[in-house]
Amino acid sequence: MPYSYDDQNIFAKILRGEIPNKTVLETDHSLAFHDIQPQAPVHVLVIPKGPYVCYDHFAQEASDAEILDYTRAIGEVCRMTGVEDGGFRMIANAGEAAIQEVPHLHVHILAGRPLGRMLQ
Ligand code: C5P
Repeated sequence: MPYSYDDQNIFAKILRGEIPNKTVLETDHSLAFHDIQPQAPVHVLVIPKGPYVCYDHFAQEASDAEILDYTRAIGEVCRMTGVEDGGFRMIANAGEAAIQEVPHLHVHILAGRPLGRMLQ
């Protein structure tokens, strides 16, 4: 099923500079910023700049340069936020079952506290 991207979603507005964000890292194809409602001492969202709804959409349609940049940006944010200091968790919600709130691909990176078991 083809994905359709809503360019009025809140992260599209952040990317266009219409809404402010607290930037952690910006690269050619990716942006990382602090989540507005942090669930841990460190809660950073990493998004591709391109118009992708979820990871599957991104993996199907993004260029190799975008995929490389995004993968490296996530790794860079992990290093900046938790890898050397007790670990971290990364999550990407997609669609209804996962209650994806913003329909623009984003990876959550959480760190800075014990995160418990995720799968039950
Ligand atoms: O994975 P999901 O779509 O549910 O997560 C969306 C995330 O975007 C939430 O953690 C929310 O706090 C965050 N958000 C944000 N800035 C906004 C709107 C939402 O950081 N302006």
